[in-house]
Amino acid sequence: MNQIFSLNRIIRENVKRLVPYSSARDEFSGEASVFLDANENPYENGVNRYPDPLQNQLKKRLTQIKGIAPDRMILGNGSDEVIDLLFRAFCEPNKDNVVICTPTYGMYEVAAGINAIEIKEVALDSNFQPDVDVVMNAANEDSKMLLLCSPNNPTANLYDEGKIIKLLDNFPGVVIVDEAYIDFAPGKTLTHKLDKYPNLVILQTLSKAWGMAGIRLGIGFACEEIIEVLNRIKPPYNVNCLTQAKALELLDDEAKYLNQVKEILKAREELNHFLNGLSFVKKVYQSDSNFILVQVDNAKQLYHLLLQKGIIIRDRSGMAGLENCVRISIGTKEENKLLCESLTEYNSKL
Ligand SMILES: *Cc1c(COP(=O)(O)O)cnc(C)c1O
Repeated sequence: MNQIFSLNRIIRENVKRLVPYSSARDEFSGEASVFLDANENPYENGVNRYPDPLQNQLKKRLTQIKGIAPDRMILGNGSDEVIDLLFRAFCEPNKDNVVICTPTYGMYEVAAGINAIEIKEVALDSNFQPDVDVVMNAANEDSKMLLLCSPNNPTANLYDEGKIIKLLDNFPGVVIVDEAYIDFAPGKTLTHKLDKYPNLVILQTLSKAWGMAGIRLGIGFACEEIIEVLNRIKPPYNVNCLTQAKALELLDDEAKYLNQVKEILKAREELNHFLNGLSFVKKVYQSDSNFILVQVDNAKQLYHLLLQKGIIIRDRSGMAGLENCVRISIGTKEENKLLCESLTEYNSKL
């Protein structure tokens, strides 16, 4: 239990006062067949009607898959939109701050910048784990959110559950756990902690394991009260009808998703093993994600060599604590083979 957390203290005053936009479809409930309430074009073409603002059908399907009730779920135009909504709901511009543990996903800092929120940046420890005391020391009464990414991008590791729980017990604001890569991790999602922690928000996405980066669909899980606040401030039609329909279609094939995750995990272990045998590789970090962080002799040189071969990896050597590190996503069998051939060639020329 977190004894000091108060949602009422965290919600911005303007958000408390807000009367949300009420769309035509919001004001209607019951059965109807003639819709003359929303100034739509009446001629059917598959997209002439506004989408369901609360995505009820899609949430029903996600409830079957994730085991979380629809009233504890918000869907966004990617999880990036949910992150932005959290800033808007809880962080007062030019006053409040959020705590992040770096190196981590760059979008947190961008979202903070857009919303004029100060970032308190604390370093992950030498095992890329959050240090509970360091995080707590960085926080003050204006710290409205703590953003944790587990498994973390770009370090690829899952955070220790005990550390996350300690932070949930003690942090004065909302604790956001970004689980974009949870499908690839050996550890379990923290969604089962929602009952106990009204200060917990969990982010997941269909962009990674489910293979739907192109349709932009992110999921936020939280207590009903937080979801109610986020629903009030979200753009009414933030998930368009093509996205809702495509997600429903692809979520139908859970076996395919499970099989692809299995293939990616197998390829990850093969690539891990292969990288360890190369002389220019200094360290292959243990991965709980669908990518591998590798420290090499010369990250820039490797990046440019692979680029010449038409292979793009991510050079992360500019980030604090990630000297000469590159991040490599796991591809298809054929793509991984091409990567390994190029790496072998580079290795032999050194
Ligand atoms: C890829 C990624 C996401 C997904 O963002 P979407 O907007 O849902 O595509 C979220 N968090 C992290 C850390 C990521 O790496």
